Amino acid sequence: MRKPFLAGNWKMNLDRARSLALAKSLREKCGSRTDREVAVCPPFVYLDEIVRALAGSKIRVGAQNCSDEVEGAFTGEISARMLKDVGVSLVVLGHSERRHLYGESDALINRKVRQALVAGLDVILCVGELLAERDQGVTEHVVSRQLTKGLEGVDEPDLARVTIAYEPVWAIGTGRTASPEQAGEVHTYLRGVLAGLYTDATAATVRIQYGGSVKPDNISSLMAAPNVDGALVGGAALKLESFLPIVEYK
Ligand code: PEP
Repeated sequence: MRKPFLAGNWKMNLDRARSLALAKSLREKCGSRTDREVAVCPPFVYLDEIVRALAGSKIRVGAQNCSDEVEGAFTGEISARMLKDVGVSLVVLGHSERRHLYGESDALINRKVRQALVAGLDVILCVGELLAERDQGVTEHVVSRQLTKGLEGVDEPDLARVTIAYEPVWAIGTGRTASPEQAGEVHTYLRGVLAGLYTDATAATVRIQYGGSVKPDNISSLMAAPNVDGALVGGAALKLESFLPIVEYK
């Protein structure tokens, strides 16, 4: 049984006071839910404070990125070990904004995935096709490559600490959501790819989140699609009024 996993990616939004206020409100409203997993991913500089604000609750705190290096002369980078040190428990890697705005390759993302797992962090590994790639009919080819390369060298036992997020780039921040059918098709395909890389039994345990303009009014239909086990939420995660109904979808 895969427990639904709803994660909010705050990106480079909110300030210190609003981050803290949102975390505290979430703690009060859904901080003790155990029937679904909830996470927030604030900007790096607020992580320490948000970890402390949510300590003792069930809400997990994730980072939005980490370095592919352990330590050393890497100006501006934050290591997975540092994230672990301040109490962060997971990290989002391979987000389309990292891939397409900052040119992160599959190989770089894979090194980050492995660093994060070694440091003891869980990983949300994002995959997703561009609109042009969907139009060319190469969605499966693209997400299969991103998934396979992203997981290179990840042993079967460590896969238990990896969540996949399918985020079609054309649906991120655009208000254009993949239909439940479109999401279900790709999620089912991705589970098949996982089964090929590992085993059917292991693939069946991995959660696959959908991301891309998830809102309170579409979460239930998306969650009802086959192999959709949660959501990675951007814009709607910035306000309690929109994130809470997503967490509490029926
Ligand atoms: C995201 O960035 O992961 C995302 C899904 O954003 P939005 O919900 O705003 O489309």
